[in-house]
Amino acid sequence: MTVQIDLSSKTALVMGVANARSLGWAIAERLLQAGCRVGFSYQGERLRPELEKLTADYPGTWIQQADATNEEDLTALFERVRQEFGQLDILVHSIGFAPRAAMEGRFIDTAPEDWNVALNVSAYTLVSAARHAEPLLTDGASLLSLTFQASQRVVPKYNVMGIAKAALESATRYLAAELGPRGIRVNTLSAGPMRTVAARSIPAFAHLYESAARQSPMNRNATPGEVGDFGLFLLSDLSTGVTGQTLYVDAGASIMTVKMEEEG
Ligand code: NAP
Repeated sequence: MTVQIDLSSKTALVMGVANARSLGWAIAERLLQAGCRVGFSYQGERLRPELEKLTADYPGTWIQQADATNEEDLTALFERVRQEFGQLDILVHSIGFAPRAAMEGRFIDTAPEDWNVALNVSAYTLVSAARHAEPLLTDGASLLSLTFQASQRVVPKYNVMGIAKAALESATRYLAAELGPRGIRVNTLSAGPMRTVAARSIPAFAHLYESAARQSPMNRNATPGEVGDFGLFLLSDLSTGVTGQTLYVDAGASIMTVKMEEEG
């Protein structure tokens, strides 16, 4: 039997593509290759030309500015989804942000306003996007966000973003429970460290990147392409039995505590 992922009858909204290195783009590219019709939202007008370039080869794609923390922007965005598609099968949330000050100092010193911004942008926006999408979602739709294992274990300097990712993972379970009766699934993909714009704001990212590769049983980091492949699986009907889960694409780094040096 040949199994193929054909999304030519499906529609998707991908939120949070900054450039070709973005994990949101890694997933979007797979959706487009599978024939899906895709709309994109981006935060600031400065990102528009980049997104126009990326989507130029894919006729039928559309892009719209939307700050995910702004209710009016979300209302306009999902009105656009309604006009373009009528309904929505797939929602990808690939958004994260914490003020720099909160990731440079000690976690104990996190300012309340930085805490609020990080949790609002990085976790609450999944909930608000799902709420705006709900009337348009088809029965059996699939929602996916991106998380990081600093939600479960301490990654020095990741600080309040670790809390935001823990909230995102928990929100994934609550949304999955509420939307499950309609067959709507909600999952979050926990990616290993990848070189993206957002990663640049993580202090000592180069060290984190190297140590994750050393920790991996496969002695390497996972790639954005592997995030795209697994994202496609989670957004397709090949994964209809999977919901509410945090699923790792990190070349196994998260399963290890101490790794023995190879002998010889
Ligand atoms: P990225 O390319 O910089 O994507 C992050 C996107 O979030 C950017 O397009 C950014 O827009 C957008 N964003 C931030 N605040 C927003 C807001 N208020 N409204 C709308 N969009 C907003 O970096 P990425 O690494 O691919 O990040 C995507 C997701 O993967 C994030 O959730 C991140 O935490 C997660 N992740 C990344 C890694 C990694 O190592 N890179 C690992 C695990 C998980 P602007 O550029 O305008 O700010």
